Amino acid sequence: MIVKNLSEKQLRDALELTNKTPLLQGNLEFLKLEKLGLKKEKYRVRLKTKDYSKPGWKTGFTGRKTPHACFHSHGLFFLACVKINPDVKIFAGNSKIKPYTWLDRNIGGLINSVFHSDSCICKDDDNYSLFVESVRLLLPENEKLEVWRDYTGYFDLSLQKRKPVKHLTIEKKSIFEE
Ligand SMILES: [Zn+2]
Repeated sequence: MIVKNLSEKQLRDALELTNKTPLLQGNLEFLKLEKLGLKKEKYRVRLKTKDYSKPGWKTGFTGRKTPHACFHSHGLFFLACVKINPDVKIFAGNSKIKPYTWLDRNIGGLINSVFHSDSCICKDDDNYSLFVESVRLLLPENEKLEVWRDYTGYFDLSLQKRKPVKHLTIEKKSIFEE
């Protein structure tokens, strides 16, 4: 991802904040933290986990564990970045990330479709409540987090025609699953 408007120190602070969440418990680190350009605060950032004993890592296409950061650990990092500087701008692929609106895409194949948010262990019973708690810890008082599902790339054409669908809303005190 590309992160603009945070200094290297602030990026490290964002990582530290993310690592203080009950879901990640210090498991996240930078695989890459590379300054792009001389004057502007613009960095290329890649996140990975330290080990598999705590959540945060994702599975690959074949279901095998990889150290790369999962949907939820990325999302928590976005929340930490915007908490440190509300003017942060984050880009992944060709799209701009909205820190409070996560888009859950198909990262599997056409036939074996799998949502990004399903390719990790964060939705396991115990971990899921830790995830919700972690989001609440990072959410400002009057903000809410929405997770939307994008069915583009699904084999089922009737699903593909749908616009992204709101799947989950987490507020400071309530949670709605749709
Ligand atoms: Zn996850």
